Amino acid sequence: MTQLCVPIFVHDPAQTRGDARRAQEAGADLIELRIDPIAEQARGDASVLDALVALVRESPLPCIVTCRPAWEGGQDDGEDAERIALLEHLGTRCAGHGPAYFDVELAAYQRSANLRQKVHLVADHPGQDPPRRREPGLILSSHDFEGRPPDLLRRVGDMADAEGCRVVKVAWHARSLRDNLEAFELLAARHKPTIALCMGAFGLPSRVLAKKFGALLTFAALGDADATAPGQPTVEQLKTLYRWDHIGPDTKVYGVIGDPVGHSMSPAIHNAGFTATGYDGVYLPMRIPPEYEHFKATVDAWLNDPRLEFRGASVTIPHKQHLLRFVREQGGEVEPLAERIGAANTLHRRDDGTLYAGNTDYAALLDAVCDALNEPRPSGSGPAPSSSPSQGSAPSRPRLVDREALAGKRVAVLGAGGAARAAVAGFTHYGAHVTVHNRTPDHARALAEAFDANHAPLDAVDLDQTDILINCTPVGMHPNVDASPLDFGHRALDIENPPLVFDTIYNPHETRLLCDAKAAGCRTIPGVEMFVRQAAAQYALWTGHDAPIDVFRQVVIDRMTG
Ligand code: NAP
Repeated sequence: MTQLCVPIFVHDPAQTRGDARRAQEAGADLIELRIDPIAEQARGDASVLDALVALVRESPLPCIVTCRPAWEGGQDDGEDAERIALLEHLGTRCAGHGPAYFDVELAAYQRSANLRQKVHLVADHPGQDPPRRREPGLILSSHDFEGRPPDLLRRVGDMADAEGCRVVKVAWHARSLRDNLEAFELLAARHKPTIALCMGAFGLPSRVLAKKFGALLTFAALGDADATAPGQPTVEQLKTLYRWDHIGPDTKVYGVIGDPVGHSMSPAIHNAGFTATGYDGVYLPMRIPPEYEHFKATVDAWLNDPRLEFRGASVTIPHKQHLLRFVREQGGEVEPLAERIGAANTLHRRDDGTLYAGNTDYAALLDAVCDALNEPRPSGSGPAPSSSPSQGSAPSRPRLVDREALAGKRVAVLGAGGAARAAVAGFTHYGAHVTVHNRTPDHARALAEAFDANHAPLDAVDLDQTDILINCTPVGMHPNVDASPLDFGHRALDIENPPLVFDTIYNPHETRLLCDAKAAGCRTIPGVEMFVRQAAAQYALWTGHDAPIDVFRQVVIDRMTG
């Protein structure tokens, strides 16, 4: 079983003991004591050395002891022999209560036969005669903080062949998401227990999926500031966000593809959904640089990896058009309306291996509106309610919504960008009469003409002649929360059927536009509904089951308010 190891830089005994306890409480299986920050002191001061011995002997969890030299990314400037002498000393003094592993760099191990002999004296290894099995075991390690070393495979082979090596550890800086696939390949081909990790922002999959591929361990930091390598997640992220405890060999992999994706809420939503329903999946951020070549190369490699089980992705800016092109080129199926919109946000790899590209944005918009239209209007006076289910009025699961209710409805769409295009395509497809209102008239005209709609200036919305108003501009979005794309004039509308107002903005939850619309007597739908429903439609496509949409909604609301 792949273990979760928390690395701890040893600066002083109290801090180290505290960190070790926190690691244990957080659910780590192992700690790595990085003694390199204190190695120089320990060599010159017997009391520091005694303290180190006590830390190892009293460690609440099994530990790896590592004294990483500066030339391999660590903090110790001592000679190889001095570092090994330190490990030797700890091994001897801690006998019976010693570390589970010593980590020694491959380069140092290969440099001198004398040093190898010393390492073998303190670390157990399978090649001994007579064989003995005692701790500490030897981890041979190799790191490259620049990129994939050209001789990566030779290094791994050398470590695996070294008679003293019990565990092979290789880590390199990933230049793209594709690097992770090689880490998985190394794990699949291992002859000895292996740790194969990619560092940096592109390397997260190798850290989360280490368990799927049977690595000896993965590293996770106690907090954001405690990482010992670039791209290391925290224990909290690994366990709570990325479902560490549920990952196994058959776990299916999903992700959000975009650039940037660092602040996407989608991993939190979908992983919470998988946990709520017990679905064996994990969902990762997947940053792919903007050019189509990167998109194609990465998605193709991930889909074709024989072991990964990459089954689908949410696709966001700047790759929504790339997804259409890719699936077309691969001979897959493209949802006709996604084709008309010119953008897809969902990739699905079906069980038979065929690909599908769809657009759940327009479907989310239409279904949220249809649900609200189908709800009976509350009687009585006072401000109209919001159709946000967080306020108790909407269904807890998506259901088949009758879109025929849209035929003949008069829809005003504010904006002429990507969200507006999805709205205009969807509403006109179901027979609504759409008018595009936009700041730049040419953009409004082009969008309207593409879908046989009308267009008008942004300030020419006639609320008396509108059944549904949808804001697809960013006006009113955090931090400009006092702005609104439409002036309701601080009054209740003196009309029989005030329009249903939908703001696609989801931060803040209730925008100025929605507040004004409510005060004017309109029913409203907050943008969180679009966000949650487009994710729910993806979830249903991928898993074949309804999404736990209440869980999705709560995750979004918690993230915005927390
Ligand atoms: P986009 O392609 O950049 O289009 C933005 C549109 O808003 C353009 O038509 C632009 O007008 C107009 N606009 C921008 N700033 C304006 C201003 N200060 N005053 C008036 N009009 C302005 O963006 P998008 O992808 O369509 O996204 C638009 C909004 O939709 C986002 O801000 C987001 O809040 C929301 N959205 C929500 C979800 C969800 O799941 N809830 C999903 C997607 C989008 P010009 O043509 O004149 O430039």
